[in-house]
Amino acid sequence: MINQINFSTQIITIDGPAASGKSTAGELLSEKLNFRYLDTGLMYRAITTYFIQKNILPEQIQQIKNQIEKISFKINFNKVGTANIFVNDKSVMSELFLPDTDSLVSKFSSISCIRKFLVEKQRTVAKKENIIMIGRDIGTVVIPNAKFKFYLNASSSIRAKRRFNQSKNSNKSIMEIKNSIDLRDKIDSTRKDSPLRPAKDALIIDTDNLILDEVVDKMYSIFMGENL
Ligand code: C5P
Repeated sequence: MINQINFSTQIITIDGPAASGKSTAGELLSEKLNFRYLDTGLMYRAITTYFIQKNILPEQIQQIKNQIEKISFKINFNKVGTANIFVNDKSVMSELFLPDTDSLVSKFSSISCIRKFLVEKQRTVAKKENIIMIGRDIGTVVIPNAKFKFYLNASSSIRAKRRFNQSKNSNKSIMEIKNSIDLRDKIDSTRKDSPLRPAKDALIIDTDNLILDEVVDKMYSIFMGENL
């Protein structure tokens, strides 16, 4: 039972839908607090890319089940606490945002044996050092007893606009980005296993009218307020 897992480390969870700014805000917060930082979306992307390269589709559940436990999946943290992911001893960080990965990641992420495999690794990492963990189900499923839980939200048109401005080299229009965000959110929030939703005790921050620094400051002051 997860409630019996005793985390002696400090853990801040930040969940939210695609492109809600949680990764950037979480990384900035981790620098301020000198915590490790793990964006678990990268883990799901790494597994998705692995299966795509093996020509295995999300529908091929039995093959996925047969292979998942055989994958060597490692996370190394550098000196500033940022994660580098290795699959079968190869760094996969440059392969995580390929178009095929983007379009299939939510389907692979709804497969329970993949979630079980990654959640176990996320909990192991969280036990080792203070960490900010970003994802969809960190406050609800992975570490439900974390003391600091945030859920960042924003309308999908604002999120699409922000993503468009960030990715200057992308040849996608804002509308195409919005459609892909909407589709991922739908799959992520309606799946049976660990759907995207705020934990009951998470602080929901609506970032529609906030700039990044304001979001980080808000989380920072809440954390510091409790740690005086
Ligand atoms: O955060 P990012 O958009 O990179 O995540 C990619 C996908 O990984 C999400 O759309 C979701 O399907 C999956 N994911 C998840 N649980 C997490 C983190 C990400 O299902 N904790």
